Amino acid sequence: RRYRKTIIAGNWKMNKTASETKKFAEELKRLLPRTKWCDIVVCVPAVNIPAALKAFKDLRVSVGAQNVFYEKSGAYTGEVSADMLKDLGVKYVIVGHSERRQMFGETDFSVNKKVIAALEADLHPIICVGETLDQRELGVTMELIALQVKSALAGVPAEKARRCVIAYEPVWAIGTGKTATAQQAAEVCTFIRATIRHLYGARIARSVTVQYGGSMKPSNARELLAELDIDGGLIGGASLEAEQFIEIINAAN
Ligand code: PEP
Repeated sequence: RRYRKTIIAGNWKMNKTASETKKFAEELKRLLPRTKWCDIVVCVPAVNIPAALKAFKDLRVSVGAQNVFYEKSGAYTGEVSADMLKDLGVKYVIVGHSERRQMFGETDFSVNKKVIAALEADLHPIICVGETLDQRELGVTMELIALQVKSALAGVPAEKARRCVIAYEPVWAIGTGKTATAQQAAEVCTFIRATIRHLYGARIARSVTVQYGGSMKPSNARELLAELDIDGGLIGGASLEAEQFIEIINAAN
């Protein structure tokens, strides 16, 4: 574990205005423990990134985006480039979240292009992978995860791969209240690390942060984070409440 960072990241999805972001940061400031053994990230809607950067500045909380487009600039109405995020002071960007795969036409192909664009701009992509309930029941979870991880990292050289974060997010556990058991989650996270080992060797595999996401909350965080191959969490619902988010951060400490 000492080879890699533990990262607790909130995914706010399409929630909170700029003023609500400021309020959240004030609550966080009151509750945040002085010593933190993990890195903390909050991924906010693109339009609220400047407000979040200002609000979290003194808290040692990094700001992340929830999506990025892979082209550098041009006629892509409504899109945001990796350079634009980097220039603002963003550190992380979620790529390939299952909601984007399901509702916004994200594919393994576009995920790969976004990962490459993010790394090119010196951002850390948080690459989401995960199986649906059907796929789990069909017994193809590991094949699917291997495919998602390998396609996301296609053409990414080793020195850049080590800057990626992989989030294992079983689709059936996102926003459903159903959490993977610590054993189920650890099994897949260990498999993800093995996949990275095959691609890049043991040294890189040891240094990549692999998170679990899917209804992580104060009541289950400690057990999940105790697993050696689970290096943090990507948290949706429970990251919207400062108190719950802090409890999860404390569980990682
Ligand atoms: C997510 O969307 O990344 C997520 C894990 O959501 P939730 O924690 O609400 O299941």
